Amino acid sequence: MSAIAGVAPPLLLRGGIVDGRRQDVAIRDGRVQRVGAGLDGAGMETLDVADRLILPGFVETHIHPDKAFIADRTHGLRAGGPTPQTLVAELKKSFTVDDVYRRARRVLELAVRHGCTTMRAHVEIDAFVELRGVEALRRLQTDFAGVLDLELIAFAQEGIFRDAVTKDLLREALKSGLKTLGGCPYMDDDQRAHIDWFFETAQTFGVPLDFHADSSDDPAQLTTDYIAEQTIARGMHGRVSLGHLCTLDVLEPAHRARVIGRIRDAGIHVVSLPATELHVKARTDARRVWRGVTRIGELRDAGVNVSISTNNVVNPFTPYGHPDLLRQALVTAMAAHLGNLDQLAWLPELITTNPARALGLAHYGLAPGCRADLVVLDARDAAQAITEQAEKLYVLKAGRIVARTTRTTEQPSVGRG
Ligand SMILES: [Zn+2]
Repeated sequence: MSAIAGVAPPLLLRGGIVDGRRQDVAIRDGRVQRVGAGLDGAGMETLDVADRLILPGFVETHIHPDKAFIADRTHGLRAGGPTPQTLVAELKKSFTVDDVYRRARRVLELAVRHGCTTMRAHVEIDAFVELRGVEALRRLQTDFAGVLDLELIAFAQEGIFRDAVTKDLLREALKSGLKTLGGCPYMDDDQRAHIDWFFETAQTFGVPLDFHADSSDDPAQLTTDYIAEQTIARGMHGRVSLGHLCTLDVLEPAHRARVIGRIRDAGIHVVSLPATELHVKARTDARRVWRGVTRIGELRDAGVNVSISTNNVVNPFTPYGHPDLLRQALVTAMAAHLGNLDQLAWLPELITTNPARALGLAHYGLAPGCRADLVVLDARDAAQAITEQAEKLYVLKAGRIVARTTRTTEQPSVGRG
């Protein structure tokens, strides 16, 4: 895969399902030109997508390609054993630029094949890996131009107060052009001091913030309320995203409702990471094993912009992790009591329009004028797509097909008695 130059030729998607109705989508100059029934396709290449669901391209907002595909380099989690952070910190010391590049490239290729057209990825920056991950991921930004928009978060997985170099390296990464700053308060003893440093640095550089926040089941460790307060006080409404928020789940309902209200008032974007929570949390619970997934339905009902994302891919955090957001939608349906038909119908918002809003993507969606980043699924509606894990027949980036997949099944027909 290499950078694709030029504008894609005009294309007509014939007879797909858009907004619940059979419609054509005309694409010109990389953008959606018209959506409607019986459009004139003269002079356009035509794809027959009759009765296939067309969605805007999937958007990953929280994923770690730099530490993907290392599950075979260490042992897995067990009750009372080392944390995944500890296991991966040791491995990071030996990461080279080429090693990160190869593994991350595989993540990006899989993500595109499964419908992702925009990705915001964390890149770890610390005393162990320094800026080697940044170098590898920046190379991939260039190599995937025209195929996948890749944004990078300068991310402090190891905290900032445990060594003498991380803060400077984070600043260096921002100066070199990384567009988001990522903190991880629970990795430092003084969570508030950590949060303060990230707000101050984000304001200095004029970049949005992303925190891994509130991953534990201890209500005393809650930081979301403080982050919301700081977001408002510092005028960063709509520019802060929080991943995990597992602690919300263990708060008393009235307390939780107050915190969710503050999240909404601060315009904070929430990103749930169900596949990782299900693997990592509650390893020592003797009964009623806590599953750790945040309250996705309550957040949505309260008007919070909530998304889901892949997080980890084949490492000790999520050995079965896979950058297929349609799979995450199914995991979410199962993990968060969101499997009724009306809920399956809106779950795709969590991997399309909501994460696009979190990233502030302009011209996203299926309306005329939007960039033609699209996925065509082998299903008639969202419930079927999620339940059957429908194939992504076509993935389009700016109107150009960047992945096409067909599945063939042979199944002898069964007669009627
Ligand atoms: Zn993460």
